[in-house]
Amino acid sequence: MSSHLALKKMSNLEKTDPGRTVTTLIDADRCIGCGMCTLVCPLQTLAIEDGKAVIRGTDSLNCDHCAAVCPTEAIQVASIDSSLYRFKTFSANCSWLPHGRFDTASLVNLMGSRRSCRNYTSQSVDRELLEDLVKIGILAPSGSNCQPWTFTLLPDRAAVSRLGQQVGDFFRKINRMAEKRWLRWGLKLFGKPELDNYYRLHHATVKMGLYAWDKQERDLLFHGATAAIVVAARNDASCPSEDALLATGQILLAAHTMGLGTCLIGFAIEAMQRDRSIVRNLGIPEQETAYTVIALGWPDETYQRIAGRRPVTIRYA
Ligand code: SF4
Repeated sequence: MSSHLALKKMSNLEKTDPGRTVTTLIDADRCIGCGMCTLVCPLQTLAIEDGKAVIRGTDSLNCDHCAAVCPTEAIQVASIDSSLYRFKTFSANCSWLPHGRFDTASLVNLMGSRRSCRNYTSQSVDRELLEDLVKIGILAPSGSNCQPWTFTLLPDRAAVSRLGQQVGDFFRKINRMAEKRWLRWGLKLFGKPELDNYYRLHHATVKMGLYAWDKQERDLLFHGATAAIVVAARNDASCPSEDALLATGQILLAAHTMGLGTCLIGFAIEAMQRDRSIVRNLGIPEQETAYTVIALGWPDETYQRIAGRRPVTIRYA
C-alpha cells in the first residue's frame, strides 16, 4: 500500500472508529495533579488544569495507559473490559512487570522450544483453554490500539475436518486448472505466471495431500489437530494483517506453556483468502479478512533439543 493510501486509511479510521470515543473518567478528589497520565497519553486527551487532570481532547485510543500509570487510582477508562484479565484455566498476575524484570533466558527457552506440531493425540482441547488463548492473544499491541482482531474457534475435530474438506475442495480445483498445460502457458504469455509457478512448486505436494485425505483418511493439512483458531481482522483497521499476526504470535507461545502443540496452516489461509465462501461458512463477515489459521491439539511428539536457525541478515543503517 502506498504511504498516501495508508495515511488516508488511517485518517478515515480515526473519523469512524467508535473505539476512539473518549471514555476516560477522572475522580478529581483522588487526583493529586502529578501529571503522569498526561505524559503517557498518546493523543493528549488529558491535560492538567488548576492542579488536576481533566479531559481536553476529543479523541482517545482507550489504551488505558493513564489508568495504569496513575498512582492514586483516580482514572477509569469505561470502555475497558477488566474481566478480560480473568482467565478460566489459570490465575494471572496483573501487577505491572517493570522493564528488565523478566528472565530473558526463560523467554528465549520458551520461544525456541515452540515447534510447529504435526503429530497430535485424539484428545480434544477444552473450550476454556481456547477462550483463554484468545484473551492472551489480545494482549498483543495493535495499530492505533484499534484491536481489530476477531477469533473464530473450531473447537473439535469435526469442525477442523469440515474446514479441511473445504480447503481440499479449493485446491482440487486449482490442481485441475494447473494440470492444463495450455492454460498455464497461456496465462504466462499474458504476464500471469502464478498458475505455472503453483504447478512447479505445489501441485505434486497438494496432489499427494488430497490422495492421502481421499483414499487413506490421512490429514496432511491439519495433521489430526483437534481444534483450530482462525484469526481475522477488520478491513478498515490501519494495519489489520500485522495486528492479527501479533495476536497469533502470542497465542502460539502461550499454547506451548499450556502443553498444546500448534501449527500455522498456510494452505488454509491461501484458500480462505481466494475463496470467500470458505470464510463465510465459518461465520466471518465480509468486513473482515482471515490472516492466520492456528491448528491446535495435544502433541504426540517430543524433541531432545531446540532446533537451529538459518544464518540471519543483520544490517546497520
Ligand atoms: Fe491525577 Fe492520576 Fe493523572 Fe496523576 S496520574 S494527574 S493523580 S489522574
